[in-house]
Amino acid sequence: MESERELPTSPELAQNEESLGARPSANFYGSVEERLAAQQRRKRARLRFTITAFLMGGLVSWMAADMLVPDVAKANLSAKPAPSNPVLSQPLLALAPMQRASQSHTLGNGDTLAALLTRAKVEAGEADAALDQLRPLYDVRRLKPGQTIRIHREWPAGQAKQTHDGRFAGFDFIPVPEQKIIVRRLGHQSFHAIKRDRPLTDRHFLADSLINSSVYEAARAGGMSPNLVVELIRLFSFAVDFQRDIREGDQLEVLYTRRFDENNQVAQEGDLIFAALTNRGKRYAYWRMPQADGSDAYFDANGQSVQRLLMKTPVDGARLSSRFGMRRHPILGYTRLHRGLDFAAPKGTPIYAAGDGTIQRIGTYGNNGKYIRIQHRNGYETAYAHMNGFARHLKKGSRVKQGQVIGTVGRTGLATGPHLHYEVLHYNKPVNPRELNVPPQRNLNAEALAELAELKAEIAEKVRGLATSDNSLRSLPRRSSPLSP
Ligand SMILES: [Zn+2]
Repeated sequence: MESERELPTSPELAQNEESLGARPSANFYGSVEERLAAQQRRKRARLRFTITAFLMGGLVSWMAADMLVPDVAKANLSAKPAPSNPVLSQPLLALAPMQRASQSHTLGNGDTLAALLTRAKVEAGEADAALDQLRPLYDVRRLKPGQTIRIHREWPAGQAKQTHDGRFAGFDFIPVPEQKIIVRRLGHQSFHAIKRDRPLTDRHFLADSLINSSVYEAARAGGMSPNLVVELIRLFSFAVDFQRDIREGDQLEVLYTRRFDENNQVAQEGDLIFAALTNRGKRYAYWRMPQADGSDAYFDANGQSVQRLLMKTPVDGARLSSRFGMRRHPILGYTRLHRGLDFAAPKGTPIYAAGDGTIQRIGTYGNNGKYIRIQHRNGYETAYAHMNGFARHLKKGSRVKQGQVIGTVGRTGLATGPHLHYEVLHYNKPVNPRELNVPPQRNLNAEALAELAELKAEIAEKVRGLATSDNSLRSLPRRSSPLSP
């Protein structure tokens, strides 16, 4: 949980209180009329000042509540404690500037917004009234576990937080990056709900770095988020074997986007637009091309789709511990054909379906321990053994997509340590996954090729705009500067 607290809004109020407290008791030199007129002027000025202070305070608190994450400790220090104020009447006190604080809560599994409000000690009548206003605007059943809800509390400015729990002032949440829903308190059990668009801006960034240790580190140094790096690795995994092929001095060049909100905060990770890996002098370069069905596909310079029927390595970060071919079995002791590849990886490492297909067998299978076998197109099958566990909801006949997590690495069955035993079969004959030359999934027609050529020119332009001209910086992560405002 994270607590946000904002600075008390009004030095104006304090000033106002002083002027109210220090008002002269009488004017001995004026006439009765003059005294009355002066009194009225003061009253009006007082009211004007109070209302202005209230409006300013209110405006500032709402803006601040949305924009700032102030330092809690500082806010406490600078909060000027003020005793109860006998001068302000009850109605005016109700209009007094409020200080607000918000706290972030997270929806759990099977949780509801109503339950969350109850846990946050929001009084039932208030919570019901707030939810009633929200209902026509947003169906709360669409909220997912992990959703952050910010609950606001408020109390009169100048009053010490310790003596005040504050009253429930509403809540807000961001159901999708483009939208914010705000429920605000108007009065006792009275709320107002609004939906606000968050205009997001895509900015382009260039990660351009030499690989010192791993693609992962080079990409992270270029500012890419971990999730995007995983996508990048998956993209190259059809052509490059990360355990075997990557060399120090290989070069990575990635154009990617990231989405920002109005306050210049990252609202959402973006996409890989273009990625090139120069591996031992050979350059692999891929361009993203949005497809008619809304998906993204990546193509090489010749218009061949990057995605192949099967991935070369169905597990990230693993070390190849045993090759395909004749070998002495480490437990059984005699020599026989090792029908697949072994990848040593820590227990719990995710295993991906190597290609789109249907699960043909799932369960415990003799020495293989926990085992999955998937049928793909063109007579191919893949098998995964010694798994620690299976992804939930998978059963015989389930359809899986390439790259989908089907389970995790373990050491079930006959295994000396945690590893994935991975097999590829072609019409029931084991083949070496390393020597697979399965065809790309699709090639572009002439029209799409022309589109790709256009796209390449556009992207080249962007990359040029982002790249610095100083080549001596090539070994350092390049500055990732926004391309457009
Ligand atoms: Zn094996």
